[in-house]
Amino acid sequence: MKRKSILILLSIFLFGSFCFAQEWKVLRSIHFIIHYKEAPMRFLDKIRDYAEDYYREITEELGFRRKKFWTWENRAKIYVYDSHDDYLEATGMASWSSASVDYHNKIINTYPDAPEFFANVLVHELTHIIFREYVGFNPSVPLWLEEGVATFTEKKKNAGRIIAGLKALDKNGVLFGLKELTAMNNVLSFSQDKANVFYAQSFGLVYFLVDKFGRDDFADFCFSLRKGRSLEKSLYFAYNIRGLDELEDEWRRNLFN
Ligand SMILES: [Zn+2]
Repeated sequence: MKRKSILILLSIFLFGSFCFAQEWKVLRSIHFIIHYKEAPMRFLDKIRDYAEDYYREITEELGFRRKKFWTWENRAKIYVYDSHDDYLEATGMASWSSASVDYHNKIINTYPDAPEFFANVLVHELTHIIFREYVGFNPSVPLWLEEGVATFTEKKKNAGRIIAGLKALDKNGVLFGLKELTAMNNVLSFSQDKANVFYAQSFGLVYFLVDKFGRDDFADFCFSLRKGRSLEKSLYFAYNIRGLDELEDEWRRNLFN
C-alpha cells in the first residue's frame, strides 16, 4: 500500500514536471507573439528585433503600409523550439529544414541558431505571411508571384547579379515562357537547376513590377487580386498591361536591353 502511494505520488510528480516542461512561455512585441520554452533570451530578443524590423521593411518595400492590416489580436506567431530535434519532431519537416511557415495561421516555427535564419529564412517566410495577409487566397495568384515576392525581399540587394544571370539564361534559351511559368503551381518535383531558374525568373518579374512601376502600383496590383479579379485583369488595373504576352515583352525589353 505504501509502495503504491509512493508510485502514485511519483507519477503525479513526473506528470506535473512533464506538463510544466511542455508549457510555452510568451514574449510579445507590436506585431508578433513569440512562444518559447528554454530558448536563450539573447536569441529571443534578436528574433523579436529582426522580425519587427523586417515587418516594417517588407510592408514599406511592397507598398502595403497604406493598409493597416495586422491588428493587435491578430499578430503573427513564432514558435521557437528548444532544439533542431524538437523542431523536427513537432513539425514533421525534412531533416535539412531550419524553419517552416503556416501562412493561413500566420505561424513560423524554428529553433535557436538555425542556419541562415536571420540572413535569409526569416525575411522570406515573413514575406509569404505578409503577402498572403494582404492578397488573400485568390487562386489566380500564380506561384511565381508568391515566390517572386518572397525572393525579392530576401535577395533584392543581389538584384544586379540575379538580372545578369537571367540575361545569360535567356541567351541560352533556358528561361520559361511566361504562360508556362504561370501554369506552374508546384516546383517540388523540379531538379535543382530547374528550380533555380524558376526562382530567379520569379524574382525578375517581381523586381520589374515593383522597381519599374513603383510600390504603389504593386500594392494596387495585389489589392486587385485581393478583390478576386484574375491575374490579367489585375495587371491591366494596376499597370495598364494587356495580358501575359505584353507583360513578357515589357519585362524582357526592360531587363535585358
Ligand atoms: Zn518561399
